[in-house]
Amino acid sequence: MNTIEHWINGSYVPVGDRTAPVTNPATGKVTGQVALASSQECDAAVAAAKAAFPAWRDTSLARRTQILFAFRELLNSRKGELAAIITSEHGKVLDDALGEVTRGQEVVEFACGIPHLLKGSYTENASTSVDVHSIRQALGPVAVISPFNFPAMVPMWFFPLAIAAGNTVIIKPSEKDPTAVNWMAELWKEAGLPAGVFNVLHGDKVAVDGLLNNPDVKAVSFVGSTPIAKYVYQTATANGKRVQALGGAKNHMIVLPDADLDLAADAAINAGFGSAGERCMAISALLAVGDIADDLVAKIAQRAAALRTGDGLRGCDMGPLVTAQHRDKVAGYIDAGEASGATVVVDGRNIAADAEGDGFFVGPTLFDNVTPDMSIYQDEIFGPVLSVVRMDTYEQALNLINSNPYGNGTAIFTNDGGAARRFENEVEVGMVGINVPVPVPMAYYSFGGWKNSLFGDTHAHGTEGVGFFTRGKAVTSRWLDPSHGGINLGFPQNA
Ligand code: NAD
Repeated sequence: MNTIEHWINGSYVPVGDRTAPVTNPATGKVTGQVALASSQECDAAVAAAKAAFPAWRDTSLARRTQILFAFRELLNSRKGELAAIITSEHGKVLDDALGEVTRGQEVVEFACGIPHLLKGSYTENASTSVDVHSIRQALGPVAVISPFNFPAMVPMWFFPLAIAAGNTVIIKPSEKDPTAVNWMAELWKEAGLPAGVFNVLHGDKVAVDGLLNNPDVKAVSFVGSTPIAKYVYQTATANGKRVQALGGAKNHMIVLPDADLDLAADAAINAGFGSAGERCMAISALLAVGDIADDLVAKIAQRAAALRTGDGLRGCDMGPLVTAQHRDKVAGYIDAGEASGATVVVDGRNIAADAEGDGFFVGPTLFDNVTPDMSIYQDEIFGPVLSVVRMDTYEQALNLINSNPYGNGTAIFTNDGGAARRFENEVEVGMVGINVPVPVPMAYYSFGGWKNSLFGDTHAHGTEGVGFFTRGKAVTSRWLDPSHGGINLGFPQNA
């Protein structure tokens, strides 16, 4: 049995008394035991990050960048190994796992430009013989707490920029698929990162609370469900930390009557059923405007019925859900949708999956005639369940999106540029796709939702990520000149 240990100060530490099983969701078999940190182990990880900070902060940008480039090269040449680990613990199909690694790698590539991103500004002669310049400096040890659904990409939204900017990091991955981050810890060591700059602490609420309450942790980047995001935000900000806490989602896709319905149906399949719907940017509500609904539902149903569900290593289109409990929860939502009167067009319950053993499968499920009062519309299901809500007008669809408590991602499908432009302007959601169903921004833009999808002011990666992991300083200087002597108790004014 594989044991998944903490990685502290550049090496593994023996597992203590608390562990949790890690399962391959495609087979239902337990493949390992992951350590669950005690508060003492949490303190040890933070102490390692604190001790490594002064030397890492003072390491030249040239040297830091060389290590980032080395990490990027190693990751790029060995990403197949990481993708296989993701598939074996998360369940998503191998191509999708590779896609996740590639999107994470893009943030590493962005972070390789850190010398440019950290450049300050300089004003000569702001007042007579007085110059002003600005610099951005690292914060110290920072914590990253990540969810199960992107075990490599979500940590990579944060740690490349945190490390590049001179901080040290403690990562608390999801206990459901913890191995990917350990694999990346070993890669960092190979790339030449000094011990203690990147630490991995496995665990549950004990580990999270330990990080939120440790005064040496200066900032927290959290991604997970909305109730935990809110808790993390409230606890860590009350402790004086800088926090970005990304929460859950309920993403809508509008299809206007003039849209290309084949393109829209393909997009709905990709965004609804990719990664078995376990994406914070998955589309779960499709708002069909006008008289296109019958045609669109038929096109989506035909495509959904043709998808192959099974073990992600067997070339299937869609893998399992992450745990048996989650499979049962998703199946329960399908039961509730049927009971509340929605039409089950494609039923993913009891499908025959292409896998050995007893995996946690639910097939693609399509509902029509869903109404906003139903739980399949209201809740984040986080499974392969797509609900079609029929709308008479664009305004009705827009109002539905804007009255939703979440605001992570959304998309509109249309050939009318004016309508798309109006939607971009009016919709109250952080990431918008125009004929693009999963509008995850590039690494040099920032990722983040609105409302209950993000607590805090700063989005992930891009220049906002650089801002989050650094604090600014403005320096006003004057070099000795006898003409500037004299006493003046008034507030400094420029002349
Ligand atoms: P989760 O909230 O259960 O867990 C997230 C992290 O919090 C994990 O590391 C977990 O160990 C920890 N945690 C769990 N319970 C805790 C508790 N009581 N106290 C303290 N920490 C706790 O989320 P998940 O199921 O791993 O991930 C799925 C959720 O994440 C979905 O809601 C999804 O929308 C969201 N998500 C959001 C984004 C985004 O960018 N907004 C991205 C990915 C996932």
